[in-house]
Amino acid sequence: MNVYSIENGSYATNCYLLQSGGDFAVVDCGVFDPAFDAFLSAHGVETLRYILLTHGHFDHILGVRALREKYGGEIVISDGDKRCLEREDLSLNAWSSYGVQTPVTADVAVSDGDRLPFGDGEIEVLFTPGHTRGGVCYLFGDCLFSGDTLFYRSMGRSDMPGGDTLTLLQSLSRLRALPGNYRVLPGHGPESTLDSERRNNPFMRR
Ligand SMILES: [Zn+2]
Repeated sequence: MNVYSIENGSYATNCYLLQSGGDFAVVDCGVFDPAFDAFLSAHGVETLRYILLTHGHFDHILGVRALREKYGGEIVISDGDKRCLEREDLSLNAWSSYGVQTPVTADVAVSDGDRLPFGDGEIEVLFTPGHTRGGVCYLFGDCLFSGDTLFYRSMGRSDMPGGDTLTLLQSLSRLRALPGNYRVLPGHGPESTLDSERRNNPFMRR
């Protein structure tokens, strides 16, 4: 498997391209701009199997419709956040100047523990609410795509609609308790590892 990342849009969203076997998937797409398009074609992407969304905020989803029009792919988001794709009051785009939100419908609404066949394995869905009502992380191989739940030495905001601090801390406890170590690939900021965050993240230490 291979993972590539690009910092996308004016909110510096980390978007990822995941490749395994002959399959490609994108994790989050804030804007589908020429840089993002060039990033995909430079890695040989012709079609996507999935567009995996960690949550429904505009800086992670606004480019999804245009991305799918060019590269295909099933749009995957949690049941709790899927309506953000259709309503800019829920994605919070209504209060941003990021761009126009053209509604799009999810193809797959995932819940905790769901597994999506991909390449040589399966992508596992972990329900990690608290930043939004329906935030999820995706596990594949040694990678944890942590969205805006877990950041390098920090965690996502919990003060926006649908957010809840205690719920977010419980989600971090759940990540902490995962067996073994993972690369942590967050929605913003630098990459980390789960062991390093277990030791050094003030929101994750016991
Ligand atoms: Zn967010």
